[in-house]
Amino acid sequence: MSTLAPAPLGLYIHWPYCARICPYCDFNVYKAKGADSAALADALIADMARWRAVTGPRTLASIHFGGGTPSLMEAGDIARVLETAEALWGLEAEAELGLEANPAERARLADIVAAGINRLSVGLQSLDDAALARLGRDHDARAGLDALEIARSLVARVSADLIYARHGQSLADWEGELSAVLALGVDHLSAYQLTIEDGTAFARQLQRGTLVPPPEDLAADMFELTQGLTRAAGLEAYEISNHARGPDHRSRHNRLYWTGGDWIGIGPGAHGRIGSHAGGGRIAHAAPLRPADYIADSLRPLAGLQHLSALEEAQERVLMGLRIAEGLDRAHLRALTGHDIDEEAAASLLADGLIVMDGSGIRLTRQGRLYADRVANMLAP
Ligand code: SF4
Repeated sequence: MSTLAPAPLGLYIHWPYCARICPYCDFNVYKAKGADSAALADALIADMARWRAVTGPRTLASIHFGGGTPSLMEAGDIARVLETAEALWGLEAEAELGLEANPAERARLADIVAAGINRLSVGLQSLDDAALARLGRDHDARAGLDALEIARSLVARVSADLIYARHGQSLADWEGELSAVLALGVDHLSAYQLTIEDGTAFARQLQRGTLVPPPEDLAADMFELTQGLTRAAGLEAYEISNHARGPDHRSRHNRLYWTGGDWIGIGPGAHGRIGSHAGGGRIAHAAPLRPADYIADSLRPLAGLQHLSALEEAQERVLMGLRIAEGLDRAHLRALTGHDIDEEAAASLLADGLIVMDGSGIRLTRQGRLYADRVANMLAP
């Protein structure tokens, strides 16, 4: 992929409300009050029109509702957003229209799919009720499995999402949970390692000593186990934390981030990226964080567009590109940004067996995947 073919365009919609705030969460989230849901949906619509003027006529490859808890959105508002996006840009024939679903809202999934969604990510997180309570989730394992079953009966493309490396979780516990989910024959699995982020309730528990994350080597064993069990179940690790039964089941929207595509981000705190240095500059934008500020902002002309420097763009592309199995295309990186990877770092990472290089491609080895961020930071120009 070393020619400058037009990048695919995606649309991310951030719905910032949650029924309650999980103690590990550091996303831009607010406890749902419901009062301004309609106003927020109106703001999303207004924001899209502003972005259409920036992108010009292009076609959307994907739309993704994330959050927050977008399964709390009114189905009518989801339909309005999808219809507006289609009217403004048009949709590719196989466009992915995805939404992250909380099992607590499983009764709403049929309406959400009727609104136009064709891919659901079901946030199971765990199959252990005590662990779910500890994670602050408002559903139990049964509800998670029910939600998964409902989702699979409604759409062909479904992801089960799990969190591992939790306080008190043993390797055998994780093996049991993961095996149970894989035994259901899911076609996509996202398995994220729990990280304790500053400013969260879990960070305070860590400080007090009431939360003890698993030691690094146990977390690494859990990662290895995940790779082995998913592969044995016929799912390929197309990204560090994401596994799919063949290319059709990969998340097209997330791939757009990893491959440095273009995306518009709407909703409170949403980020976007459009263009490249070679194409005249890569625009970066972050929407106002608080819902009230975002709603007010959506009524004004779009402001706050920044151009990343070519170096910043190259650094982002290295960080994201290394996460996927096919790796980073150096020739493409050079063509887009004029920058290359750090040759000296590459030589030492190669000698340490953390990356492989073939032709213009650079990929993480199995060992390298354990240290993906560190490796990417070393390789970045
Ligand atoms: S439901 Fe998701 S987005 Fe909302 S607080 Fe919990 S982890 Fe964060």
